[in-house]
Amino acid sequence: MGSYTEKSREELLALKEETDRAYEEFKAKNLALDMSRGKPAPSQVDCSNGMLKEMTDYHTEDGVDVRNYGILDGIPEIKKLFSDLLDIPKERIIIGGNASLNLMFDAMMRLYVFGTMGEKPWGQLEKVKFLCPAPGYDRHFTISETLGMEMIPIEMTSDGPNMDQVEKLAAEDEAVKGIWCVPKFSNPQGICYSDETVNRLASMKTAAKDFKIFWDNAYGVHPVFEDVEVKNILDACEEAGTKNRPYYFFSTSKISFPGAGVSLVAASDENIAEIKKIMNAQTIGYDKINQLRHVQFFKDAQGLRRHMQVLADCMKPKFEIVLNTLEKELGGSGLISWENPKGGYFVSVDVMPGCAKEVVRLAKEAGVVLTGAGATYPYKKDPKDANLRIAPTYPTVEELQQAMDLFCICVKKAGIEKMLQ
Ligand code: PLP
Repeated sequence: MGSYTEKSREELLALKEETDRAYEEFKAKNLALDMSRGKPAPSQVDCSNGMLKEMTDYHTEDGVDVRNYGILDGIPEIKKLFSDLLDIPKERIIIGGNASLNLMFDAMMRLYVFGTMGEKPWGQLEKVKFLCPAPGYDRHFTISETLGMEMIPIEMTSDGPNMDQVEKLAAEDEAVKGIWCVPKFSNPQGICYSDETVNRLASMKTAAKDFKIFWDNAYGVHPVFEDVEVKNILDACEEAGTKNRPYYFFSTSKISFPGAGVSLVAASDENIAEIKKIMNAQTIGYDKINQLRHVQFFKDAQGLRRHMQVLADCMKPKFEIVLNTLEKELGGSGLISWENPKGGYFVSVDVMPGCAKEVVRLAKEAGVVLTGAGATYPYKKDPKDANLRIAPTYPTVEELQQAMDLFCICVKKAGIEKMLQ
C-alpha cells in the first residue's frame, strides 16, 4: 500500500473516492455494534456459571457460617488463594466487596478525610496533585477529578511511565501526592512495567512524606498470548525502605463476574492496621458468601490460573482479528500506530494527530460505538487527539471483524481528509 503521507494530492483524491464508497457501503448495512467498554463476552462469563449453582456448604474452613455477620477482612481461604496467586503474605491482604474501584475510592477518601500516618488530611490542603500516566484508565482519572485533584499527565513508554518525569515531579513538589499505576497489561496499551520502573517508583525521593502509589493490578493474571512477570511493588518498596508507599488493588472482575466479583487491597502492616480501623466503622464485613463461592469454584490459585487459560483461549481469536486487520488494512500506511499487547483487555492505537474524534464520529454514524476519543487522558483531553482504545472482548468474532473493517475505513477516511485540508 505504501505510506499515505508520501502520496500526491491526485493519488489521495482517488483514494478518498474509494474510501468514501466503502464507507457508504458500510453505512447501508445498518450495523449496531458496541466496542466501547472492556466487558467480557457472554461466552466468557458463562465459564464461571459453575459458581452460581446451589451451595451446599456455607462454612469456612474454621467453621464460620458465611450466611451471618462476622469477619471484617475476608475469610481465610480466599486470602490464601489470593496470597498464593499474587505472592503477597496473607496478613497484608484485606478482602473487599464486589469490585476494586470502590476500594480505590475509599482509599482516596480516607487520605482526604483522615490523612495517613499522622500527616495532614489531603482535604485540608490548598492543592493536591496526582501523577496520571496517560493514556490510562478513565475511571482512575474520574476519581481524581471528582476529588478536585490537579491531574498531571505522564508520558507512557514501553517500560511504564516515563520515570524521569515522575521522579522530577515527585521530588520537586510537595503537593504531588501520588501516582496511578496499572503495572501489568495496562489499560489501554497492554504495557508491562519493567523491574527498573518498579524499583525507581519504590526508591525515588518524594517531597510529600505521604506520597502514595495506587497500584491497580487489574490485569495481573490476564495473559492472552504470553505471560509477563512484573515485580511486586510491595516487595520493591520493602527493599527500598518505603513500605508504606503503595496500596495494591486487585479483583476478580475480569476473572469471574464484573461487578459481582471479589476485590482486595494489600499494603504494609501499618497501612493495613490504619485501613482496618476506619473500615471497621464503615462495614461489619463484605460479602462472605461470594468469597466462599469463589473459593469453592476455583479451589486454589492454580485452579484460577487454569480458568484464565480458558478465558485467554476465548479472547485470543478476537485480539488476532484486531491486530491482523490493522496490519492488513493499515500496516505501513503512516495513518496509525499501535501496541501489540501480550495480554489484558485492550488494543491501543494512535491515529494521525487531530483525527481521533473524527474516527469515533465516523464509526458512530456507521453504527459502531467506540470508546470516546480523549477518554484515556486526564480531563478527557488528549492533547494530540490521537489515541483510541479498542475493546475487542464483547462482540462476537463475526461482529468484531465487521467493526474492525469499518474502523480501518474510518481511520483512512479521517486521515485522507486531514491530509487534503
Ligand atoms: N482497574 C482497571 C485498570 C480496569 O481496567 C478496570 C475495569 O475495566 C477496573 C479497575 C475495574 O475493576 P473493578 O471491577 O474491580 O472495580
